[in-house]
Amino acid sequence: MKPNIILLILDQVTWRALPAYGNTFARTPHLDRLAAGGLAIDGCYTPYPLCQPARAAFWTGRYPHETHVLSNGGSWRKDGSLPPFPTLGEVFSAAGYETVHFGKTHDGGTLRGFACAPEEQTVSAPVHPAYPQNQDTFRDNYTVQAIGRYLQQRTDERPLLLAADIINPHNICGWVGENQGVHPSVDSGDPLPPLPENFEFPDIAGRPRAVQYACCTNNRQAQAAGWTPENFREYLRAYYHYLSLADRAAGQVLDALEAQGFTPQNSLFVLMADHGDNMAARGRVNKQVDFYEETTRVPLIFKGPGVLPGKKSGLVSLLDLFPTLCGWAGIPAPEGLQGRDLSPALSGGALPDREYVASEWHTEWGYTVSPGRMIRTERYKYTRYIEGAGEELFDLEEDPGEQKNLAQDPSAAGVLEEMRALLQKHLRQTEDNFASLEWVADTRWRSHPVGYQNHRGIAAPMTGKEH
Ligand code: ZN
Repeated sequence: MKPNIILLILDQVTWRALPAYGNTFARTPHLDRLAAGGLAIDGCYTPYPLCQPARAAFWTGRYPHETHVLSNGGSWRKDGSLPPFPTLGEVFSAAGYETVHFGKTHDGGTLRGFACAPEEQTVSAPVHPAYPQNQDTFRDNYTVQAIGRYLQQRTDERPLLLAADIINPHNICGWVGENQGVHPSVDSGDPLPPLPENFEFPDIAGRPRAVQYACCTNNRQAQAAGWTPENFREYLRAYYHYLSLADRAAGQVLDALEAQGFTPQNSLFVLMADHGDNMAARGRVNKQVDFYEETTRVPLIFKGPGVLPGKKSGLVSLLDLFPTLCGWAGIPAPEGLQGRDLSPALSGGALPDREYVASEWHTEWGYTVSPGRMIRTERYKYTRYIEGAGEELFDLEEDPGEQKNLAQDPSAAGVLEEMRALLQKHLRQTEDNFASLEWVADTRWRSHPVGYQNHRGIAAPMTGKEH
């Protein structure tokens, strides 16, 4: 019989937020339990640092420019159709798996092939005024209960592919709304995390315009204008709180699975996240438009029979999930997948050799459109935006905090040319029409002196209808 597969998906978790990747502040005993004895991949990137496009990409193994799922909104399909790529759910269902999904969908139609549980809520009492709860947390409460009920009643004898799609720590987005603008500090009784080393953004004037004005296009960043450094530390404290809620939910799911006999002795467990969170780096909250490590680099941990525990560093993409699960289960992968099969690396082999991994940005809701691409090699990261031909180049060996944009530095001209050529090659090979895309941003969203703290008033998504 084929191995069971359990996917634990979190929402908005930067790789370095987890103790498995060295974090000493997070309290995530259940995720640590899963990571212990597992293989942590260090160097996994999301193909699009935003919920729906990332999910549509990893459920199909295709880049967002192929799925056409380019925003979080509902009207992302300009031609009204989703390309008929086989999905992970369809392939595993056809191969004899029972494929079930619980929790956050936000998939743009790419969860085809999964039986998806309804997305309902179970309201819970908040633990402290510093940590308001919203539907993100309430939906996780329901997801955990639904998985428990399902497992208790399960009589299906097929191998199981179960996805537990946990929304937290995404509740941090609502936290920003509850704490917008100038506001006093609140003592929650929990320690305040330190600000990250790259909290300041001294060279914002030398960044692409879309990044400079993220405050005007992302309502959460607009709401953070006026915050003190202490407020940003409170943001981090709340982020870790919501991460602990995700951990608790994951622990309940693991317990429910174990009670029914699904353990790493007989099932492959995968822990991952759709994208990261800026975590106060460069004075940013949440995520939008940028490709910095905090937003694009995510945890990816495997644990199961035959998985050699430890850590492996290399260039990996969430697009690798689909071919890796196929490889692990001995199911032929459909043609045209953009990722690589990591399954040999799980049992002791090397990660696939790769020149680079890529990520994409288009728009969050459609109010402003800022097409961008990221190319990440072993040492460098290059980003390119259509608006103003904005570019960034980072030497991540010398500058892991991405605080020095080398794109205008004459001493880096050779590397810049190489990275530009690599992007061109990537665009050709993946039939990406990036160069012909257009940016859209009303002058209202490009007007104030550069600097997120100079933002005043609302941001673009608060004005009207998405397009
Ligand atoms: Zn602004």
